Amino acid sequence: MKKQTDIVHLQEQLLAWYDRQGRILPWRIRPEDRDAGQAADPYAVWLSEIMLQQTTVPHATPYWQKFLVEFPTVIDLANADRDRILTLWAGLGYYARARNLHKCAGVIRDEYDGIFPRTEAELLKLPGIGPYTAATIAAICFDEATNIVDGNVERVVSRIFKIEAPLPKARSEYRRLAGTLAPQKRPGDYGQAIMDLGATICTPRSPKCADCPWQGHCEALKQSRPTDYPKKVKKAKLPVRHGAAFVLRHDECVLLRRRPDKGLLGGMMGFPGTDWGDIPTEPLKSAPINRNWEKCETVVKHVFTHFELRLDVYRAEAMDKSVNGVWAPLKDIKDFALPTVMKKILSVSNA
Ligand code: SF4
Repeated sequence: MKKQTDIVHLQEQLLAWYDRQGRILPWRIRPEDRDAGQAADPYAVWLSEIMLQQTTVPHATPYWQKFLVEFPTVIDLANADRDRILTLWAGLGYYARARNLHKCAGVIRDEYDGIFPRTEAELLKLPGIGPYTAATIAAICFDEATNIVDGNVERVVSRIFKIEAPLPKARSEYRRLAGTLAPQKRPGDYGQAIMDLGATICTPRSPKCADCPWQGHCEALKQSRPTDYPKKVKKAKLPVRHGAAFVLRHDECVLLRRRPDKGLLGGMMGFPGTDWGDIPTEPLKSAPINRNWEKCETVVKHVFTHFELRLDVYRAEAMDKSVNGVWAPLKDIKDFALPTVMKKILSVSNA
């Protein structure tokens, strides 16, 4: 625990550093922009926060720009065709987020007259908006003094306080300590500042402590052991699931089918295949037609959050296009927004 005078000092030092060196991001209103009369747009901030979960700023930025060009307002997004949203989302992964984006936009259109709710508590009621995103939008856009905690903040806080309890078990303790530092004034700037500090200075493997505005108060640095924190419980090895996928071709086209809405890659286009689980005993029973299927040599490996997937790929040539599904011309395949694992299957079938 820090003394109140130290906390005030930490807040002032961090905000002064942010005023000088905070990142310039396309969805961000910098303090000088705000002084010039600009306000943060909750729609733009929400989009950026959802996209930035599980990916980096350089990767997410072109997607964010494309979405804002095609759907300039939350109502435009709510009125959009879901397949179009999934197509634009392809490559960002974790497709449930895109489906929730659409659902959430619909709720804001229908239940909030197209206007984002202004409090953390109300934002939390929306589909796909969790504690971090609600706290971030409320602080950045509506000046609510929330406690913004993401992975970057957890790392900084773990070092400042030298927290010995490991993540993820002790997450509530990290949250509580982060809350002791969060100020009532300029909550949005503070939240963005501490996230910037974690992203650019207090990095996981080589923190630049000499450039850190908090170096004088950092317990981990005092012991020269910043990278010992945050403590983490060793991850168990991911379980492996198996399956088979079928690439059926005819006339420079491949057969695709839409995956069921529920479950992984829900609603996305993909190649027909078996369920994913134990090694299928008779994979060809799940093939879209009875053909002379050739098994490709390479096994597709793909890591999801909770398991590793290994897929055998089978290929065959159809006599015609009478089999049910969408026959996608290979030259236009990028328009079908295939998830990464499906792109790997196609590439193995081409080898
Ligand atoms: S002094 Fe180093 S370890 Fe401590 S918060 Fe700053 S960058 Fe992180």
